[in-house]
Amino acid sequence: GGVPDHPHVRRLPEVIVNRIAAGEVIERPAAAVKELIENAIDAGALRLDISLDGGGVERMIVTDDGVGISPDDLTLAVERHCTSKLGDETLVHINTLGFRGEALPSIGAAARLSITSRPKGESGAWRIRVEGGKTYPPEPVAGAYGTSVVVEDLFFATPARRKFLKSARVEGRHVESVVRRLALAVPQTAFRFVLDGREVLDLPAQDMAARAAALLDASEADGFLNIAGEREGMTLSGFICPPSVHRSTANGQFMLVNGRPVVDPVLKTAVRVAYRRVIEPGRHPVVALMLTVPPEQVDVNVHPAKTELRFADEAAVRSLVIGTLQRALEHGAGVAGVRPVLSSAPRAT
Ligand code: ADP
Ligand code: MG
Repeated sequence: GGVPDHPHVRRLPEVIVNRIAAGEVIERPAAAVKELIENAIDAGALRLDISLDGGGVERMIVTDDGVGISPDDLTLAVERHCTSKLGDETLVHINTLGFRGEALPSIGAAARLSITSRPKGESGAWRIRVEGGKTYPPEPVAGAYGTSVVVEDLFFATPARRKFLKSARVEGRHVESVVRRLALAVPQTAFRFVLDGREVLDLPAQDMAARAAALLDASEADGFLNIAGEREGMTLSGFICPPSVHRSTANGQFMLVNGRPVVDPVLKTAVRVAYRRVIEPGRHPVVALMLTVPPEQVDVNVHPAKTELRFADEAAVRSLVIGTLQRALEHGAGVAGVRPVLSSAPRAT
């Protein structure tokens, strides 16, 4: 007789917890770059330098001139659920791109992470390293104001994920798409992006029209239109190309909701519907849309990567997008409030 054998419930060690979280948050190099750029933007960076080797798997470096992390905070910053962005406890009014305190511990669990930071007023920089979940004490180093994050050997500590990586070229393309999406969210921030030694983007601080034109690779010569619409407390603005400008993929579609780059099926479908009758079948329109929604009508805490969201009233969002785009496409530059904008670099004729 006696007590039957059964496994006991134990708390998982933190290293394993972080590796599990890394599996969700850091799907591929592009996801890590996205988290690092979001942190730089949240830190108020006006200049961002991103450089990648081996599609980001070998090495990625993201350097910003933002507020920095004080030496006392460095150790906490790489711990799970630690954040300086404590906002609204109801998760309604979120004004930063990050809020979960998961990115740095996840990256540190899966890769070799090194963060060098020097806030304004500090006499020098400090660096902290985390390798496969092991954190080393911060040490003083030379460094400029701001923060520089280096990630090497991504997924060396999580071989199950490493196996699913595509070629450096394919991973690099995913990273480029993420960088472009985030660059649209902060036109006043200069972006430089170098992929395997080749400069892919060098964007100065600019206004939204110029940034959108640069990212869409469109200009006034294409009939680039400024759109504006409003409905039930929501506003839609942005820039769209006429149906004569189209791509083989949806890569020329950029969407921001309350300033956050998103990949959302409701918005994507609405764009497709708006262009359905005027664009060549099988081709994709080129648009940059900025939607603002009252914060209580959208939930951004749907997915660990925070690129998906839920709208309380999907039908209203759909009508706003379809209505605004169709009006602009029908009337072109003729309608009040809808006028072509000058691109940063007007084309010679
Ligand atoms: P979250 O962004 O959700 O707060 P992270 O794990 O991405 O979580 O970052 C943890 C903390 O580290 C941030 O809250 C911030 O205080 C600090 N931090 C990270 N990156 C930077 C940066 N580039 N500049 C300034 N502070 C940063
Ligand atoms: Mg973050």
